[in-house]
Amino acid sequence: MTAKKARSSKASNLDQWDDIYSEKARNLRQSEIRALFSVVSRPEVVSLAGGMPNIKDLPLDRLAESAKQLIARHGAQAMQYGGGQGYLELREQISQVMTYDGYAPNPDNIVITTGSQQALDYVTQIFIDPGDVIVAESPSYVGALGVFEAYRADVRHVPLDDDGVIPEALDEILTQLEKAGTPAKMFYTVPNYHNPAGVTLSAERRPRVVEICRKHHVLILEDNPYGLLGFHSDPIPSLHSYDPDSVVYLGSFSKMFAPGFRIGWAAAPPAIRQKLVLASESAVLSPSMVGQMAISGYLRDYDWYSQVKVFRAMYEERCNAMLSALEEFLPYCTWTKPQGGFYTWLTVPEGIDTKDMLPRAVTELVAYTPGTAFFADGSGHRNIRLSYCYPEPEEIREGVRRLSVVMDHELELLKLFGGPKAKED
Ligand code: PMP
Repeated sequence: MTAKKARSSKASNLDQWDDIYSEKARNLRQSEIRALFSVVSRPEVVSLAGGMPNIKDLPLDRLAESAKQLIARHGAQAMQYGGGQGYLELREQISQVMTYDGYAPNPDNIVITTGSQQALDYVTQIFIDPGDVIVAESPSYVGALGVFEAYRADVRHVPLDDDGVIPEALDEILTQLEKAGTPAKMFYTVPNYHNPAGVTLSAERRPRVVEICRKHHVLILEDNPYGLLGFHSDPIPSLHSYDPDSVVYLGSFSKMFAPGFRIGWAAAPPAIRQKLVLASESAVLSPSMVGQMAISGYLRDYDWYSQVKVFRAMYEERCNAMLSALEEFLPYCTWTKPQGGFYTWLTVPEGIDTKDMLPRAVTELVAYTPGTAFFADGSGHRNIRLSYCYPEPEEIREGVRRLSVVMDHELELLKLFGGPKAKED
């Protein structure tokens, strides 16, 4: 009783439980993107901020009929618990889907998760103690950084260029970390149509990256939700295909189909797979059977690959609208030229701080995600992630035009009052 009193006297007036949260809860942060959601969902705002898949081309009526049939015919199984590793038939189908990445793992080595986001959480939980080092690309997916932060990983960034992560830089940072007595445990990478950078790791670099990580005994965490969404091609062989024993591969149905069923997966070497199954049993007992069976039915009964092609064409049209609007309205910026996926990465002139500029952009009815969301070290002030996945092409053009109004104004102010405002990254 006394101890309880002593504790609660330290708690804030706003939250009476403030004094007893775990370290992990204290490290959970709202991502900058989520914080934006309430503003950008207003219809008058053109949002180039979120990464919501555009599912307008899905045959919803047919899908509704399939869902009805699933429950009517297989309800007893679909509405029941399943195994922690996931539905075998779906794992077999996923293995087939992965042939597009150059290697079909044994279905035994696949674990189904609630989106690949949950797989990110499991892998981090399995490997990371507070203070352990993860090397991640510069910039990195905000949702992965959030997980790494929650587990109190020490994230170090390694630079990217237009061909993805730079192998020499990766080797150098891994060597430095070893010398400092803090070797990295994991290298986290999004090799295809990077979120947020929009670049793709070249075929030539892939075996080198695998070799470097093997040399340093660093596990590769390959996150590949966009791999099938190349505008002109199937994916380049995955890092996983070069060495399945050194890579945990994460896949997802969120972008190649739809996020609604929340089904993703991890393909891992057997020992890690065992830990992943334990993590899954502990977190959820079993992933949603109805979701897994619905996805399995979709892969079996639909021409899912033709649907992927429809998505590719739709995203390519939007990407082209974005790139030509950037040329028209923001010629003084630079940006990456995506070959697939949802995003381009903009670098703005020196002196503009994209985080500070965001409220002014929202006043101008355009939203974006400031670069700072994608770094663990506070950099990114001269960058913006622009998503072209969701708005219509003409909205994208209008959004970029509005952005240029804000940026032109910022540049005017800089001319008048001088001095670079942005922190140098
Ligand atoms: N990784 C990356 C790079 C992503 O962009 C996303 C979604 N934005 C995810 C993982 C998580 O996707 P999901 O949980 O829907 O599979």
